[in-house]
Amino acid sequence: MNTLQITVVGAGVMGKGIAYSCAVSGHKVYLNDKNEEVLAKSKNDIEELLNSSFEKGFLQKDVFENAKENLKFESDLTIAAKDADLVIEAVLEKMDLKISIFQQLDKICKPEAILATNTSTMSPTEIGAQTSRPDKVVAMHFFNPVHKMKLVEVIRGLETSDETVQLAKEVSASLNKQAVEVNEFPGFVTSRMNCLIGNEAMNMLMEGVASAEDIDKAMKLGLNHPMGPLELADLVGLDTRLRNMEYLYQTLGEKYRPCPLLVKYVKAGRLGKKSGSGFYDYN
Ligand code: NAD
Repeated sequence: MNTLQITVVGAGVMGKGIAYSCAVSGHKVYLNDKNEEVLAKSKNDIEELLNSSFEKGFLQKDVFENAKENLKFESDLTIAAKDADLVIEAVLEKMDLKISIFQQLDKICKPEAILATNTSTMSPTEIGAQTSRPDKVVAMHFFNPVHKMKLVEVIRGLETSDETVQLAKEVSASLNKQAVEVNEFPGFVTSRMNCLIGNEAMNMLMEGVASAEDIDKAMKLGLNHPMGPLELADLVGLDTRLRNMEYLYQTLGEKYRPCPLLVKYVKAGRLGKKSGSGFYDYN
């Protein structure tokens, strides 16, 4: 596909991974975050990943050099998004925040720009309805770590056009990922399933059924999961996982009630790998 101008909003765990993948695939990228410190850290992390991928031979020299040139870091959303063909939003999993960003983008971006959300659970229909272009709003759900994971769930909202879904699939293919198309329903396919497994693992840990290590080991060796549910939750971020559970609990009901142990860990600031401790210690 042609080179696109892609803006990624939110430079946290997912935003920096999406920006990296877009840049090494030849797209021109602006990574935006309102927090300058986060933006500086993301720049550093992306440069480290580019350097190590080049040194290990995963990236050719021209791809490596183009990617460095293609990536810009910008805290002003107007500068970052005004020329975008596609915006991928990756801010916190909070509906009010996502809607306010999409309303700003709707004013800033070209009328033909496509606006995608990387939400894990939420409704692109609800977000799109607050813009003047609901046909151009879609969810593109990437996975963590983005540069390694091969799937993008493309979620069609009620008003999302066929052209928008097609573009989301073509962009996914240009990033060397496979897309699955999902009709909107809370949690889509993957989060709906995975949050339930993770929550059950946390309930078992809380009930003293087994240690975190043994729960994860059982799922890896016995059920062939590549990662245990507790180490995966730590990788995702326990604050992010809690927001996912809260949304699924509100929309899908009792079986998604967040495990009290998860709530307690988030209150304590144990947010998983990104904060240095969660179900495991990373220091
Ligand atoms: P994160 O907390 O690591 O990063 C969120 C970033 O958004 C922060 O850097 C914050 O400064 C920034 N932000 C907040 N308000 C902003 C604003 N107004 N403008 C610009 N930036 C703003 O979160 P994350 O884990 O990267 O999750 C982001 C989204 O991706 C969520 O919707 C989450 O559900 C989804 N998601 C997460 C994972 C995962 O494994 N973490 C996987 C798939 C999807």
